[in-house]
Amino acid sequence: MLTVKNLTFSYNKTPVLKDLSFTAKQGENVAIIGESGSGKSTLLNLIFGESDLNQGQIFWKDEQVLGPKYNLVVGYDFMKYVSQEFDLMPFITVEENIGKHLSNFFPEEKKERTAELLEVVELTELAKTKVKTLSGGQKQRVALARALAKQPEIILLDEPFSHIDNFQKQSLRRNVFRYLKDKNITCVVATHDREDVLGFADRMIVLYDNKIVVNDSPENLFKNPEAPLIASFFGEFNIIGDAIIYAHQLKMVTNSELKATVIHAYFKGHYYLIEALLDDDVVFFESKTNLEKNTTQYLEIIR
Ligand code: ADP
Ligand code: MG
Repeated sequence: MLTVKNLTFSYNKTPVLKDLSFTAKQGENVAIIGESGSGKSTLLNLIFGESDLNQGQIFWKDEQVLGPKYNLVVGYDFMKYVSQEFDLMPFITVEENIGKHLSNFFPEEKKERTAELLEVVELTELAKTKVKTLSGGQKQRVALARALAKQPEIILLDEPFSHIDNFQKQSLRRNVFRYLKDKNITCVVATHDREDVLGFADRMIVLYDNKIVVNDSPENLFKNPEAPLIASFFGEFNIIGDAIIYAHQLKMVTNSELKATVIHAYFKGHYYLIEALLDDDVVFFESKTNLEKNTTQYLEIIR
């Protein structure tokens, strides 16, 4: 289990992270969510032991993770970190990068392991290609595979799919997160992309204003988004009265008290997102068909 206890950290005078506490169990997938600049990368750096805390402690099981003041070499064997910079070796091949930290005393195992990981990150065809010739997304996949090569007990992923194009993102996410679950590897993933979270994370920790504002399952937070910040993570929403109502919770009906005037219809694939005016407030709802501008639509809130 990863334990973060009362962690406070600042680069200069103002704290970036204030009194954070949370845990991640063995095999659990915990997502760290927050706007750009909210401290996600800083938190992962600290868990990895790259800087000294101002206050608090970090433990993996019984072992305290210590910063550079106490450790000559940053990093621990049980933990791997895929940061936003990938730190690959550009002049050797993809498979050599992945196998870099695997022992040459077991050539068969090394070969098998490298092949398995190439499949997880869908790079088998590029095994013999030099890393310097790869695209950003391909490099990111090599970095992921290399971090998994030695089977860490815990892995820290910083926006791990940010450079990967949409054609491959979906299957890659499934591969990587399934692999981590299969091997019971604890995963702490920093992201602002809900697609990295939904269907994969066991818990979501939301950072805001230097603190943890919520720590709960995605399901619970989706059903009861306590603040607009949380609702916005899941999709378009409205504030009607004091309540947070998702766009999909506004149902089109033939008559009701809620009378909206259509402003615009956005094609979204299997539905249109409709922007409309409801008593001078802009609201969003979903429609199966395109709606004309200035037409009237009655709405009902369903929960
Ligand atoms: P996120 O990953 O959520 O975008 P970061 O952890 O990168 O956020 O940054 C959190 C805050 O710390 C930001 O205000 C950023 O400008 C600041 N920061 C990040 N790295 C450094 C650094 N090396 N020195 C000083 N300030 C930093
Ligand atoms: Mg970051």
